[in-house]
Amino acid sequence: MRPILSIKGLSVEYLSPRGRVKAVRNVNLEVYKGEILFLVGESGAGKSTLGLTLLKLLPEGIAKVVGGEVIYHRDDGGNLNILKLRKGRLRRFRWKEVAMVFQGAMNSLNPIMKIKDQMYDVIKDHGVRLSKREAYKKIEELLAMVRLDAKRVLKSYPHQLSGGMKQRVMIAMSLLLDPKLLILDEPTTALDVLTQKNIMNVLKDIRDKLHLTMIFITHDLSLAAELADRIAIMYAGSIVEVGSVEQIFYRPKHPYTHGLLKSVPKLTSEIGKLESIPGFPPDMINLPPGCKFHPRCVFRRDICMEKEPFLQKVEENHYTACWRWRDIFGEE
Ligand code: ADP
Ligand code: MG
Repeated sequence: MRPILSIKGLSVEYLSPRGRVKAVRNVNLEVYKGEILFLVGESGAGKSTLGLTLLKLLPEGIAKVVGGEVIYHRDDGGNLNILKLRKGRLRRFRWKEVAMVFQGAMNSLNPIMKIKDQMYDVIKDHGVRLSKREAYKKIEELLAMVRLDAKRVLKSYPHQLSGGMKQRVMIAMSLLLDPKLLILDEPTTALDVLTQKNIMNVLKDIRDKLHLTMIFITHDLSLAAELADRIAIMYAGSIVEVGSVEQIFYRPKHPYTHGLLKSVPKLTSEIGKLESIPGFPPDMINLPPGCKFHPRCVFRRDICMEKEPFLQKVEENHYTACWRWRDIFGEE
């Protein structure tokens, strides 16, 4: 499998009045061409920060990449060092190579512009050589792909659309310039269950029709069962486990992943029986020494409080950052 993106030793910090927020800490991750990779972790784990860094979209002056690099592998074999791209190249890179649907994006549609004009502007602003007719044809095709009634939606203003419809407009918009990699940050959060399901189905259609590579960011591990090829679990700014859906769901090798799985509702479990992980997510300014999960981990030993574990190979394609995975879960 060829990677489309290689994230190497990436660390990002925010400067805040209380101190440095270590939002992303030494992340090493390859994203393979054509796969759907889920990035899963609790709120505050650094998922959005990682996503934004991949497009060099961190807020200037507040956030700083303190280490590492992100390499984008182009179809023609060329490599782009994303964090070094300057304005002009970056502009050509975003939307066309990598596009992102931001967390809460559906609320950022311009309220006083018809969907038609907002979508056309994306094409026009990026100097795509399409006639007006071709551009609208493309827009209509994409709206149909996200299962919207194009005629109706195009002449609407955002307030005339439901949340789910607006989110589908955002997804269609992200595809306007035929990106190779699509990053979706919590695309179903804040939507009701039925609407969530519709969005997941739309993303399945897109996967089947466009064969895109996708990074799907969510706090909800259960969504991965439907769509993911691989899952990376993020805790306190680091990837603590990565593997295929099967490996993560049936053979987890990190106590945090195990905890997340226990809180995934099963069809048979009754409401109220869901377990959640005890304790609280860590303070990202004052992280504990050693394994960042140790204060919440029932399996901890001295080493866990002293030395931070790195990702170790469990089996092909499956890595965990836990000193004690063999003792706790056993070898395969
Ligand atoms: P997630 O998407 O997993 O919820 P984020 O990437 O949004 O996590 O945040 C990671 C950490 O960085 C959190 O502790 C958050 O409070 C902090 N953070 C995010 N944005 C900023 C910012 N603009 N200034 C300071 N801290 C921030
Ligand atoms: Mg987020």
